[in-house]
Amino acid sequence: MNEHDSERLAGLMVADGLVPAEKDAIADVVIFNTCTIRENADLRLYSALGELKDYKKAHPEMQIAVGGCMAQKDRDDILRRANWVDVVFGTHNLTSAPGLLKKALTDGPQIEILDAPDPEAHKDMAPALYAVRELPFAAWITIQTGCDNTCAYCIVPSVRGGEVSRSVEDIMQEARMLAASGVTEITVLGQNVNSYGRDITGRSPLFSDLLREIGTVEGIERIRFTSPHPKDFRDDTIQAMLETKAVCNQLHLPLQSGSNRVLSSMRRGYTVERYMEKLNAARAAIDDLAITTDIIVGFPGETEAEFEETLAAVAEAHFDAAYTFIFSAREGTRAAEMQSEFIEDEVVAERFDRLKEVLNRSALEKHQARVGNTEEVLVEGPSRRNDQVLSGRTRQGKLVHFPVTNEPVRAGSLVTVKLLKAAPYHLKGELVSVLRAPKHKVRIPLQVS
Ligand code: SAH
Ligand code: SF4
Repeated sequence: MNEHDSERLAGLMVADGLVPAEKDAIADVVIFNTCTIRENADLRLYSALGELKDYKKAHPEMQIAVGGCMAQKDRDDILRRANWVDVVFGTHNLTSAPGLLKKALTDGPQIEILDAPDPEAHKDMAPALYAVRELPFAAWITIQTGCDNTCAYCIVPSVRGGEVSRSVEDIMQEARMLAASGVTEITVLGQNVNSYGRDITGRSPLFSDLLREIGTVEGIERIRFTSPHPKDFRDDTIQAMLETKAVCNQLHLPLQSGSNRVLSSMRRGYTVERYMEKLNAARAAIDDLAITTDIIVGFPGETEAEFEETLAAVAEAHFDAAYTFIFSAREGTRAAEMQSEFIEDEVVAERFDRLKEVLNRSALEKHQARVGNTEEVLVEGPSRRNDQVLSGRTRQGKLVHFPVTNEPVRAGSLVTVKLLKAAPYHLKGELVSVLRAPKHKVRIPLQVS
């Protein structure tokens, strides 16, 4: 969500006449779009602002803005701690950033934090044509902001507010605009996508209908979504995934812990057994489904035996990959008040390593089982480490590297690759055929004199 907000912010700046600064070049405007999900994000913001302090003194014309969840949380504190910042804006008024930057030029520092989304700005919250995307053929669409859940560790509801769904019409308009500009892959974004639309209908969610609708957009070949919440993930979503050809065979289903006591203390609203039922139902219905998850290690009160239950659940679920997090106490959350039950750092670090080992083993096994397959890969471009190697993703979301051949293959092409070698985080293979060239247009900058 934070990355997509950054794309939109960058787009708003470009629409306002700015151009992206070259790496290491001196910029007129620096925006920090902050995340506050774990504590180290906070620490990094203030050290990054500290690094700019002397520079700002020498170049007062440079403007510094801080937006996002930390700005929403810390509000006036940011200017108190770093009075060389020009603009502070929150999660609900990202679109105000260009105006605030202009106002700051004449009127001095500006702070604007809203307590809830401005309905008008929300309606137009993700103008697709404005987002500056890393991959021109793959786009995120926010379908809902905020979250109505109360997970004990999580700061999201307090910095992003309650759930607000965008209208189906707005989302579909954005999807069509994206497809018209050559986007072929859409990732649908929300904190709890399965409850999308509950606030619109006042009753039942509309997520499965929305998936089917997006599936009708011509040109959209791949649809992914993140994150479904296990407590709200039901058969209607599995059915919609099954019936919508463009929906990829990939599911991110955050487990968090394998202990029912910990899950209840986290207030997640499901048991491990219920989670497994849903995971198994999805696997039984959808052929060759890749399942990924999120796990938190060291939630307050987690005993060794409970951690071992997590290891067992992870082994049973046989995940394709997982994001693993060390519990971070966030001010204002219930879990932050459970200080007497905090787990020592060394114990958590040791558990974290053990969890990684189990996860890597299952990720590697999953990848090894694919060796020998020829799979469809959407090419992202040269690999970060070696420009003689191309990287892309399969429909399962697996990262695949393959050597450049004589055949020109541009980013955005759809190809088939024979998979030859497996590692926990990627697969290696060789190009078999090019199915189609990229569909996105390459923009030629307009010279305005
Ligand atoms: N809405 C999504 C999660 C968004 S946050 C969901 O419920 O699935 C992404 C992940 O960050 C969470 O799944 C959780 O594993 C992790 N996370 C959130 N708060 C955390 C905290 N305080 N400490 C450690 N990990 C945290
Ligand atoms: Fe946070 Fe839970 Fe909401 Fe996810 S569902 S954003 S973890 S409160």
